[in-house]
Order: sequence, then structure tokens, then C-alpha cells
Amino acid sequence: MRCSLYVHLPFCRSKCRYCDFYSVADREELIDGYLDAVAREWELHTERTSVELTSVYIGGGTPSLLSMAQWEYFGSLLFDKLTLVNDAEWTVECNPESFTEEKARLFADMGVNRLTFGIQSMQDRELVTAGRPHTSHEVLKVLAAPVLRRFRSVAVDVIYGLPGQTLDSFADTLRQLLYKPVVRHFSAYELTLVEGTPFGRHRSLLPFPAEDELEEIVHVLGTAADRYGFRQYEVSNYARMGYECRHNIGYWNHSPYIGLGCAAHSYLHPYRSWNITDIAGYCSRVREGLLPVERREKLSAEMAGREMIFLGLRQRTGIDEERFTAATGIPFASMVSKTLLERFRADGYLEFDSPCWKPTKKGLLFADFMARELF
Ligand code: SF4
Repeated sequence: MRCSLYVHLPFCRSKCRYCDFYSVADREELIDGYLDAVAREWELHTERTSVELTSVYIGGGTPSLLSMAQWEYFGSLLFDKLTLVNDAEWTVECNPESFTEEKARLFADMGVNRLTFGIQSMQDRELVTAGRPHTSHEVLKVLAAPVLRRFRSVAVDVIYGLPGQTLDSFADTLRQLLYKPVVRHFSAYELTLVEGTPFGRHRSLLPFPAEDELEEIVHVLGTAADRYGFRQYEVSNYARMGYECRHNIGYWNHSPYIGLGCAAHSYLHPYRSWNITDIAGYCSRVREGLLPVERREKLSAEMAGREMIFLGLRQRTGIDEERFTAATGIPFASMVSKTLLERFRADGYLEFDSPCWKPTKKGLLFADFMARELF
């Protein structure tokens, strides 16, 4: 079987004030046992099937928080046992405060060819407000590290909509990151306020940018991407030509993947499953020799079709009518209104490049709106 692999390492130095991902702060004593469990979970998945990996993504949490010894240990437990296809993409997520050149050298020696850094902002005041444990100075130091030349691609993530953020401060963040040739990819996510996070609880007290400022920020984003040679290939993702993230494109196109670790998801057609969302429960289930699945669902043709439309409208490659029908068995025209698609085309949101309906630059701004209308 061919698929992608995601490995979730849910450990962080501290908890960012907007974060609702599953991760624990300051619990480094749990890491070694967790790595054993993840390697065991891989054995459970591959006991009866041999797997060739088209991409690997180590995410979190903060994977770079692991020590050199833990990375070496994890390498011998898991990575030495993986079979990757030629030219497979292999990404590790890093945060500036726990990144070291020594770890990066080890990653490169293991075969990692892509690093992605959680930067979020280059304004120290915004970083402090968001509870990020790094400074802009540390980011500049990391991005200047000669070892980065050993990777095929380096990516950065930024957030817009942070308290106190202005048009100028966001434009400055983009400028400081995007003019660097070493940066080949960036993701820009709008801050989501989630109940239960400090930002969610104190939303009325914090100076979040107003709706019209956010619209201007999105405009600045598009202009900066063009100026520095990045192309928007998905609503939140931009890359220099040829440096799109293949692993994420696989998710958006319903390619199969195995997720290892607590709270990780897997999709092996037609089943999607979710692992247990708690480290102790996850580890003990795996130690019993059982896959740590908390929930599993069978994706019906109609569910798959709706997702293909929703995700297709968020990507510049769009929705391929022929691929849609081949994958779902449902004629494309019976699932969506062609009249509505034609209206979106007339309004400049979509273009039709047979057999694909592709969102324009303007259409990417209205991807979710179009999906809602179509359903
Ligand atoms: S580093 Fe990432 S995963 Fe960890 S708390 Fe911050 S946003 Fe969440």
C-alpha cells in the first residue's frame, strides 16, 4: 500500500493563548514513553501490510522540543523502519526557541528535506501577547543558519488577526520573512477564537483588529505574496513555484494517510478514524497491542463528494469533474447546480478549464461562501 504518514508529537514548552490543538506544556517526562507507543502503533499498522510512504510529516505540538537523544532514539525506533518512495517529501515542524543547528543536521542526515517554522509574527509585542516563547531576533538567527541550505524547502507560518496587530505591523512581518530566499513556502492563517482558550475567554477585553482592518490585511497579504514571488495555491498557503506542500495537497485530495500518535487522524479509503485524545489513554491502549482508535467512520460517496467540492474550491487546481465522478461514482452535475457555477464564473470567482472548475484569486477569498451556496 502507498500512503502518507503523519506523526503527532503533542509536547510544547508552554501553551499559546489561542491554541486549541491537542498538546501539553511542560510535560517532557512523558516523551520517551510516548515515542515507544508511537513506534508500536506503526508496527500495529504494518503487521499485515507493507507500506510505502509518499510523504512524512512530523507535526505537533512542537517536534523540535525533543532533545537530540530523543530524536536519535525515535530515529532508531521508527524512522529507520520506514520505506519511502524516491523523492518523498519529509517535513518536520520546528519552533524557533527549540530549534538548533545540531538537530537540523540530524534531521537532514535522517532524510528530512523540508522544515516548517511556527513564527506567527515578527513583532515582539504580538508574540508576547500570543504567549509565544520566541522573539523576532531568534527567528532571524534561525533563518540565517547555514544548515538550512541542506533542506529542499523551508516554510514559515504566520497568523493575522492577533490582538494589537495593525496593517503596518503585519506588512512588516511579511516583509521580514518573505524577502529571504531561504523561505520557499508560507502559510497565513486567520486567528480563530476558540472558547476555552485564554483569547476565547477574554475576547471582549483584547484589541483584535476590526473587520475592515482584516479585509485590508488580506489585501496586504496578496500584494506581499506577489511582490516576493509566492503563488497562492490554497486559501491559506503560498509557495514559490514547485515548492507547494505535497503532504497537505494529499490531504485535500483525499489521498490515503496514516496518522500516528494521540489525536492523530487516518484516512484509508473509505474509512476515516481518530485516535484517542489523551497521552495516557493512547499509550496504554497501544501497550495492550490495540490500535488506539477512538472513533471511525465510513465515508459515503456523498460525503466524499461534498468534501471534494469544499476542498476543491479552496485550491487553485479546483474541482476536476472527471476525477470527481471517477472517485465518487456520482455524476458531478447531479451534485451541484451548473447554473450556480456559471453565475460564479460570470462574477469572476471561478474559471472553467475543462474538466476543472478553478477558483480565481478573487474566488479563493469566497471559497467557503461558494461551498455554502452550492450545498
Ligand atoms: S506551539 Fe503550536 S501546538 Fe504548541 S501551544 Fe503553541 S500553537 Fe499550540
